[in-house]
Amino acid sequence: MAKMKVAQVSSPKGPLEIAEREIPEPEPGSVRIQVAACGVCHSDSLTKEGLWPGIQYPRVPGHEVIGTIDALGQGVAGWKVGQRVGVGWHAGSCGSCDACRRGDFFACQTVTRITGITHDGGYAEYTVAWANALARVPDELPAADGAPLMCAGVTTYNALRNSGAVGGDLVAILGIGGLGHLGVQFAAKMGFRTVAIARGADKEPLARQLGAWHYIDSRASDPAVELSKMGGAKVVVATVTDADAMSAAIGGLAVNGTFLILGAAGPISVPGMFLLRGKRSIKGWYSGTSIDSQDALAFSVLSGVRSMNEAFPLERAAEAYDRMMSGQARFRAVLTMGTR
Ligand SMILES: [Zn+2]
Ligand SMILES: [Zn+2]
Repeated sequence: MAKMKVAQVSSPKGPLEIAEREIPEPEPGSVRIQVAACGVCHSDSLTKEGLWPGIQYPRVPGHEVIGTIDALGQGVAGWKVGQRVGVGWHAGSCGSCDACRRGDFFACQTVTRITGITHDGGYAEYTVAWANALARVPDELPAADGAPLMCAGVTTYNALRNSGAVGGDLVAILGIGGLGHLGVQFAAKMGFRTVAIARGADKEPLARQLGAWHYIDSRASDPAVELSKMGGAKVVVATVTDADAMSAAIGGLAVNGTFLILGAAGPISVPGMFLLRGKRSIKGWYSGTSIDSQDALAFSVLSGVRSMNEAFPLERAAEAYDRMMSGQARFRAVLTMGTR
């Protein structure tokens, strides 16, 4: 059997180690992908640190996968060998449960497949994915540029395009990190009056370069007051994980405004009266499924949205993970496998 290199975790909280494995065969309904790049996402810590219940080790993390189909399993229609594809967090759905029949594939009641958690992901030279979890990758998009769009990108893009905001509306992106630096670009390219909110003045030049029309330093001023002065935000997209930072911005919502939560945070406090008097709402957003990712990739090529990445070869996966966890990466860490 031919062998491949992977970066795997052998036990909860264990190190990411390079191992040699047999190249897997795709089961029916699946394709094998020769991986070209895989983003390193904060959610990979669920696998690395054993925070997701029921993970079987050793496990290969990684749910921001871009590569090329190199073998088809039985019964796969609509995909061919040599095609460039991406795989994200959402690893497939059944198509026949009530949630799927309503189009809510992300909430499939019978399939709970998560790339890099319930089965091996993209920190590897090859991986296997269900055909219904695949996104087409435009030729113009280099693999390392596309990888972070498979999670951080699709999450912000899909939240914004489903937010109800239309061109010209005031939309604020809270946090300029891995998600936020993409969120600001998407919001600007969608034609929103885009406000970036972050701590400190040092991120303002970058925020403006990414397309922000206005910048709020949440250390120097109150984001709710500043947004209100501009008429209030139709949408605030919260990419931070700090519940207090979220609570501090909710007051900046316009009448009919929506506060979208993308970052996992603790309890958020908000006066009920403020919500009901302005018909305001707070809701969560779940990222997206394969067609959402495909749309995010296509929109990024069309509009020039790009993730800012630090690239590491697969062999340095442990270093890339530490860099991501340190919060110092500008802005996404990406593993590259030396192929297109
Ligand atoms: Zn992710
Ligand atoms: Zn289903």
